[in-house]
Amino acid sequence: MVVQKRKPIVVAANWKMNLGPSAAGDYLKDFIELVKKDTRLISSIDNKEVEVIFFPPSISLPCVHSHLGTNYFMLGAQNAHWLPSGAYTGEISIPMLKEVGVTHVLVGHSERRWLFNETDEVISLKVKACFEFGVSPVLCVGEREEDRLDNKTEEVIEKQVKHGLSFLKNFNMKITDALYIAYEPVWAIGTGKTASPKDAQEAIGFIRELIGTIYGRNCADAVRILYGGSVNPENAKDLIMQEDINGLLVGSASLNPNKFCRILSNVTVL
Ligand code: PEP
Repeated sequence: MVVQKRKPIVVAANWKMNLGPSAAGDYLKDFIELVKKDTRLISSIDNKEVEVIFFPPSISLPCVHSHLGTNYFMLGAQNAHWLPSGAYTGEISIPMLKEVGVTHVLVGHSERRWLFNETDEVISLKVKACFEFGVSPVLCVGEREEDRLDNKTEEVIEKQVKHGLSFLKNFNMKITDALYIAYEPVWAIGTGKTASPKDAQEAIGFIRELIGTIYGRNCADAVRILYGGSVNPENAKDLIMQEDINGLLVGSASLNPNKFCRILSNVTVL
């Protein structure tokens, strides 16, 4: 079956705590050279068939902004506080991030949930703040290995999605257009164990149905749902071919400009 992909396909690079300003500059020079050599990729980016979002560490945001601009590539933050300002040492607010070109914020990444004890309550405050301050949240959800073995994948995802969106009482199309969800099974992140395209489709199809049940069919169709977890140039195409997968969130493989470019090329040949 030929799958008609919803455009644009979203490909996001989560650099985590890697590539400070000087390494980011070197990376981007290489990345831009590679993109320039790939005329088909350039035209896909030009025609807005693919949306590329970089999530560097906050310290590298101005550098990435100055190298790439925001005409063709988008800029995201890996985290943000939900308040605009105040006595919160070490935190950065969304209005501050917007000043350096940020349009997207990762919320509830599994490393924040499990290593930094971010709760569903905090995550829902951050999602709400993204809408209040006018950036797109990328709400990350996903089960741990033990949840999957216990057949609790859907239960866990449902709880995370419902909690994450719990402040969005007046959910409407405008909100849905801004909302991204990333399904990232914890056991697949940084482990080399990618979910099979079938398992990823099943979980993402479930999330879309869930959005449909809560907010209606139009919302379900509009929301962009990405898969993340050990995506690489070899598996990217099979994943993106799945009916409900609108994009990919790439960690480790996005740290290498060559691999990241190959992922972009492989998903734009559809
Ligand atoms: C991530 O951290 O969002 C991620 C998907 O990482 P990796 O691709 O390394 O599994």
